[in-house]
Amino acid sequence: MENLLLLVHTEADGALAKSALESLQAVQTLASALGASFSVGLVGEKIQDAANQIAACGAARLLGVEGSDFAQPRYGSDAAAIEAICKAAQATVVIAPATSRWNRVMAGVAQRLNGRVDTHVTGLGAENCAPSISRWYYRQRMEATLSRTQRPWFLLVDPGSQTAWQGTAGAASVEAIAVTLPDTAKRTAITGIRQPAADAQTIRPDADLLFVTGAGWTKKQADGQTHVPEAEKNIRDFLNLTRASLGSSKSLVDLGGEGQAVLSFLTHLNQIGQTGSTPRHNKGLSTCCHGEEPHAVGWRFIKERRAISLDANCGWARGKADVVYVADAFAVMSKVNELLAAK
Ligand SMILES: Cc1cc2nc3c(=O)[nH]c(=O)nc-3n(C[C@H](O)[C@H](O)[C@H](O)COP(=O)(O)OP(=O)(O)OC[C@H]3O[C@@H](n4cnc5c(N)ncnc54)[C@H](O)[C@@H]3O)c2cc1C
Repeated sequence: MENLLLLVHTEADGALAKSALESLQAVQTLASALGASFSVGLVGEKIQDAANQIAACGAARLLGVEGSDFAQPRYGSDAAAIEAICKAAQATVVIAPATSRWNRVMAGVAQRLNGRVDTHVTGLGAENCAPSISRWYYRQRMEATLSRTQRPWFLLVDPGSQTAWQGTAGAASVEAIAVTLPDTAKRTAITGIRQPAADAQTIRPDADLLFVTGAGWTKKQADGQTHVPEAEKNIRDFLNLTRASLGSSKSLVDLGGEGQAVLSFLTHLNQIGQTGSTPRHNKGLSTCCHGEEPHAVGWRFIKERRAISLDANCGWARGKADVVYVADAFAVMSKVNELLAAK
C-alpha cells in the first residue's frame, strides 16, 4: 500500500497558496482512487493557520516543520525539512505544487532519499492499483502517461492544472517534526526582494482572463498611420480595469529588439506559444494577432478562446478560436474600456 504525502509551504501571510490547494485536491483524488490514506507535511515560519485552513481535508496525519529558519526559501533548510517529513511519514509517493521554492529543492531531496522525481505533472491517476501521472512533451504537443516502481517518487504538480480544494477551516492538530540545522544549511540569507511595481507586473497566472496582443497593434491602420500610443492606452486601460494577465505574440515582443516602436511594458516573458509559455487561464482574448500555429499552440490549455482580427481568414477563424470578431481591435477595445469604466 502506498503512503501518499502532500508537501506544502506557507506563503508570506502564513496561508497556503492556490497551487497548494490544487495539489491537495490531486492527492485526495489519487488517495481515493488507490484506496489509500494520505498525510500532509507543512513547512514555514508558523504553520498552524495553514493547517487550520485545510483541517477538513481528511489527511490521516499533519506533520510540520516550523520556525524562523524555515520562513524563507533556502535549499539547505528546505531540503532538511522535507527529508525529515518524508522519513516521518514513510512516504512512498510525495506530491508537491511546482512553486519556485519546491522546484529548487525537490530533485535534490529525491536524490538524498534514493528516489526519483518527475516535474510538470498535469494529471494523477491510478492504473492497475498503482499511481500514474500524465505530463506534456515537445512544447505541449504530446501527452504521456507514465508510472515508476522506484520509491519514494516525488511529483511536482504544475500550478493551474488542477482544481483547487475547497473546504471549511477548522482546528487542526499538527505533529511537530524537530529539525536541527547545521550551520552549513544556513549559509544563504535573503536580504530583500526586488520586484516590479504592482502595475508593471502584467503576468498574472491567477487571473480569469488572458489578454493577448499581436503585432497588428503596431501596424499601419486604415489611415495609413501607426497608432502605437493609442494602442498602449487601450491595452493599459483594459488591464487596469480587468486585472487580466497580458500575453503577446512573438512578432510583437521581437519588435522591441529590432528598435521599432512597441508597447513599453511587453517583454519576452509575455510571449505565448511554441517558444513562449503555455498558460492555463479560463478565458483568452486575442487582439491584433493572426493566430498562427506556433502562437496558437501556446493556447492549448485556455478553455474559452476569442479573437479580434481584421482578417476573416486569420488562423483563429480556422478552428482555433470559439468566437472570432472580424473587427478593428482599436474600436472594439476602446468601446469595451468605456463600458467597463462606466460600471
Ligand atoms: C520556430 C518558430 C517558433 C515560433 N514561436 C512562436 C511563439 O512562441 N509565439 C508566437 O506568437 N509566435 C511564434 N512564432 C511566430 C509565428 O509563426 C508568427 O509569426 C507570429 O505569431 C505572428 O505574430 P502576430 O500574429 O502578432 O503578427 P502578424 O502575423 O503580423 O499578424 C497581425 C494581425 O493583426 C491584424 N490586425 C492589424 N490591425 C488590426 C486591427 N486594427 N484590429 C484587428 N486586427 C488587426 C492583422 O489582420 C493580422 O492578422 C514562431 C515561429 C517559428 C518559425
